[in-house]
Parts: sequence; structure tokens; C-alpha cells
Amino acid sequence: MTCATDAYPGTFAGGDPEELRALAEAAGRDLELAPAEEVLRWAAETFGSRFAVAGSMGADTVLSHLASRVIPGVEVLFIDTGYHFAETVGTRDAVDAVYDVRVRTVLPILSVAQQDEKFGPRLYERDPDLCCAMRKVDPLNAVLGDYDAWATGVRRDEAPTRANAPVVAFDAKRSKVKVSPLARWTQEDVDRYAQEHGTLVNPLVWDDYASIGCAPCTRRVAAGEDARSGRWAGSAKTECGINL
Ligand code: SF4
Repeated sequence: MTCATDAYPGTFAGGDPEELRALAEAAGRDLELAPAEEVLRWAAETFGSRFAVAGSMGADTVLSHLASRVIPGVEVLFIDTGYHFAETVGTRDAVDAVYDVRVRTVLPILSVAQQDEKFGPRLYERDPDLCCAMRKVDPLNAVLGDYDAWATGVRRDEAPTRANAPVVAFDAKRSKVKVSPLARWTQEDVDRYAQEHGTLVNPLVWDDYASIGCAPCTRRVAAGEDARSGRWAGSAKTECGINL
């Protein structure tokens, strides 16, 4: 297993959020039309080991695979909410074993049992925003303290809320640089890459789950339905808050 810092020591000295903002804004302009590999290479060259990739392990693992090729040994962050399907946890383990990455599993402060005790069972039914905040957003925010920049797999074609997702931007809420190398990709691009490279797939995809999050908040989608319609179905919620 290689280490990302072997190939990319990073050029950003760290520290100043305003410097990070300027860096992100310039890169956002320069890399808008760049291939995903070039975007990832820029992030690695600039931030070295202070850059990580968020890997949800829902549906495809294309971003983790791409990152492993461009930045061998890169850290992949997996937020283990305690509510994942067994198949998702298995996909995480497979990615860790097969790709040249180091998966870092991040846990919420409260276990599911502790959350149930404090807030009552099935909080996801009564207040999914609070549940997502405690089990996804807060853990990510905490672990990002170790990094200056992070990558997500968001794509503009996934949902109206993501239609303007920049390739590189300053994540003002976290004072980090947020990189979305696949922002301009379509589902067809993802499928083509997955086929060409034989990437790992969450097996639930073969059981009509098109977009996979926590088990209580994910359902199968019918043919022709929007992929993300199976997430928080029956409620107005469409995002966990990580990418807002
Ligand atoms: Fe809770 Fe559902 Fe959000 Fe998972 S997706 S953290 S179970 S509300």
C-alpha cells in the first residue's frame, strides 16, 4: 500500500481561510472544464495528505476508484451512521481491500442505542434533519478538521439541488476547499467508467436500489423513476445536509 504523501507532498502551507478561498476560486475557474483526473491531481498536488475523498459506498464506487488511480494511497472517508445496509458496509470493506486507498471510517458521537435513549427510537421518522445532522454532518465536519480540502461525488445531473455544483469551490461553512471532480459527469459517464474499469458496485444496485443511503431512509425505485426518489421517500427532504 502506497501513501498519498509519497507522490504528493502538497504545496499549500495551510492556515489562512482567505488564502484557501482565493485558491478555490481560481481553481474553480481554471478547472471547470478539466477532466476529473486533472481535478484530483490538482487537489493532491496542492494539499497532499491534507486532502481526502468522501466515499458514501452508495451505488457505485467510481470516485474512490478514480482517486486511487490518480492519488494512490489517498484517504477515503466513510461516515458509518450505524444505519447502513450490510451491503454498504461490505462495499466499504471491499474498496479498502481492493483499491489503493486507505478507508477511514468515521463514527457519530452517539451510537444508535445512545441516540434512541436520548431522543427516542426512530428519530429518522420524526426529525430526519436532526438525525442526519448528528449521524452524518457533524461527524464529517469533525473529521474535516484534519484536512484543508475534500472531494465529493456529487453530480449536476443528480438533482435540481445539485444542478449548479461547482467543480472546485470554497466550502464556507467548513472553511475548506470542496472538490467535485464528477460534477459535470452524467449517469452514462459513470456507467461507462464503471464498465471500462470493472469497479466495485454496492450489490443493492442489482435489487433496484438506485441511490443508497441509510437503510431506514432508502427504498427501491421503479423503472423510470428518478434515482434519488428512493431517498427519504414520502417527505420533502432530499439532502442529508453534507452537500448543502
Ligand atoms: Fe438518520 Fe435517515 Fe439521515 Fe441516516 S439518512 S442519518 S437514518 S435520517
